[in-house]
Amino acid sequence: MSRDSRFDILFEPVKIGPVTARNRFYQVPHCSGMGYRYPNAEAHLRGMKAEGGWAVVSTQEAEIHPTSDLTPANEARLWDDGDLPALSAVTERVHAHGSLAAIQLVHNGLHVANRFSRMIPLAPSHAVSDSLDPVQARAMDKADITDMRRWYRNAALRAKKAGFDIVYLYAGHDMSVLQHFLSRRHNDRSDEYGGSFENRLRLFREILDDVREAIGDTCALAVRLAVDELMGPSGITCEGEGKDIISALGELPDLWDVNLSDWSNDSQTARFSEEGYQEPYIRFVKSVTTKPVVGVGRYTSPDSMVRVVKQGILDFIGAARPSIADPFLPKKIEEGRIDDIRECIGCNICTSGDNTNVPMRCTQNPTVGEEWRKGWHPETIARSEAPEPALIIGGGPAGLEAARALAQRGVDVMLAEGGGEWGGRVARECRLPGLATWGRVRDWRIGQLSTRVNAELYLHSPLSAADILQYGIPHVAIATGASWRTDGVGRTHRMALDFLSEGILVSPDAILSEGAEAVPSDGPVVVFDDDCFYMGSVLAELLARRGRTVTFVTPESQVSPWSRNTLEQARIQKRLIGLGVEIVTAMALAGRTKDQLELSCVYSGRSRPVDCATLVPVTARLPDETLWLELKAREAEWADAGIKTITRLGDCLAPGLIAAAVYSGHQYARTYQEQVDKDRVPFMREDIARLYGLRSG
Ligand code: ADP
Ligand code: SF4
Repeated sequence: MSRDSRFDILFEPVKIGPVTARNRFYQVPHCSGMGYRYPNAEAHLRGMKAEGGWAVVSTQEAEIHPTSDLTPANEARLWDDGDLPALSAVTERVHAHGSLAAIQLVHNGLHVANRFSRMIPLAPSHAVSDSLDPVQARAMDKADITDMRRWYRNAALRAKKAGFDIVYLYAGHDMSVLQHFLSRRHNDRSDEYGGSFENRLRLFREILDDVREAIGDTCALAVRLAVDELMGPSGITCEGEGKDIISALGELPDLWDVNLSDWSNDSQTARFSEEGYQEPYIRFVKSVTTKPVVGVGRYTSPDSMVRVVKQGILDFIGAARPSIADPFLPKKIEEGRIDDIRECIGCNICTSGDNTNVPMRCTQNPTVGEEWRKGWHPETIARSEAPEPALIIGGGPAGLEAARALAQRGVDVMLAEGGGEWGGRVARECRLPGLATWGRVRDWRIGQLSTRVNAELYLHSPLSAADILQYGIPHVAIATGASWRTDGVGRTHRMALDFLSEGILVSPDAILSEGAEAVPSDGPVVVFDDDCFYMGSVLAELLARRGRTVTFVTPESQVSPWSRNTLEQARIQKRLIGLGVEIVTAMALAGRTKDQLELSCVYSGRSRPVDCATLVPVTARLPDETLWLELKAREAEWADAGIKTITRLGDCLAPGLIAAAVYSGHQYARTYQEQVDKDRVPFMREDIARLYGLRSG
């Protein structure tokens, strides 16, 4: 197939100063959680994007000096020449596929605590570090400014040595000293680097000049700038200083990469934003510079991409998340395979990797982070040499991905779903407020399966142990999912709460299946959230929107604390407050009468009542493993029936994230005929000692 001519514009080459991008697809800097500690993983991740057609592939932020030390986060690092091998590995893999390699230089200013280097953080003015550590940054004097300029220059020289084609200065996300100097909030200096707009801009100008001189005329210079901080007049705004900065510096860099600050505004989830949500803030940029402009907005639709280029909003389609969910997005458009695009669902499980200091994972793309250590490619899987048929039971994310990937391997696969629709939990959860895009997990897999002649799909097919033994298909995978508990057991209550059986208890599953109607419309509802991610808050939101009086009770000190990792926590809490949900924190369940729940403070044990006609406990789930247990009980019959293996997948094995279920299904498809050696580490590990010359061979 060849591409639709209406997408031709996306494949025009674009000059960025002295270098030329082969098309308009641009992987902007994004964290990966791999960074300097997992350099092979990082290099293979970036190389995969180049292979998939992204004309520019950038590193994440690269700390330029030990006074900028984000440990335990795991970003890129360019403290001295010792860091070059890891970064050269990135440029080599990116160049191998004909793409340009970019690096984002950063000094993090007051954003770091320097936990590893133990050096004092540096800032325009004395300030508390925004890391939550009891650490302060000190105000930089003139000698520090001279040092800072030299550090940027040295880092730029090293970046060039490592083979990068584009060197970035980063003034975004409130994480960079350049932004801190620009900001009236952070900069109250009275010398020529503070006060007036021109003074606050001075260090930025100087470092732009320094870096330009360092990289010479073969490397391009890019700026990543936050044009709006969504703080109104107390921050940078796109009508105010955001515009003034680009007007003042317009022609100095070779490219403007513009976005929102902080990171939670830039990488908003689909629950809180639509595709293209940054356009209102960045559309002015091309009117004040002739240089090419790149921006982001979770673009996954080629038509939207064409529109933003034609409307003169952007020259490059920037992407972090869409390039993670589908590293081959550009190639698929180029080859006219639009239906094959694995669209990002905007869930931010990827950001949770960086935020918890581990290599990122992705709900849609189970191969992310596994490119090097497991040798997984997002588009290809070796065909099975002697494929034996497989039966998959359960059409949720685990079962769908297992069937899809097995079919891709050339295996005859039968997928049986007991219910009347595909998608399992995804089908139910995507009906909740703000989660519609999650249905893409199902849609992409059903789309792919529908093109395979070796995949048979059956709805309305609840299978029993007897059915499975009778079919005698050699490999059976059970992906029957999980159900929410109603006994209160979770993190806080480790033993069942007998009093929960009194009064009206509605399980999350009832609401997921029947909607808000599962909850009686009269009387107050209590959502008790001990799960701490999205489900408690999204059920509270649904019920509040349907007119119920909702109290949200959590043993934690804020709503949905784990969603800090998906950058959503503040938005979730704000939304519940806006909907009139009463939020009760630091409380566990202690007892129940007909009309009230007794809560007890998790610190003091002091109790208080809360009116409650209906309780929705969101605590934990239990695997739906009846089928597995029945089969296990008849294990002696497997061989005679012709069954070689029966394996549990996804939530049926252990309830977890949708990303974990997809990963589980994918892993099964790659290894279903292999004997697992449980004593072996199932992936390669980075040998940092060898990389840094401490060990040879
Ligand atoms: P996961 O996240 O692990 O994929 P889900 O709960 O999303 O799990 O999906 C499990 C699916 O399995 C549900 O759609 C459910 O209807 C289906 N299922 C459960 N038991 C059976 C069975 N005995 N036969 C066929 N399908 C089943
Ligand atoms: Fe998109 Fe979610 Fe994957 Fe991140 S984890 S790239 S938000 S699908």
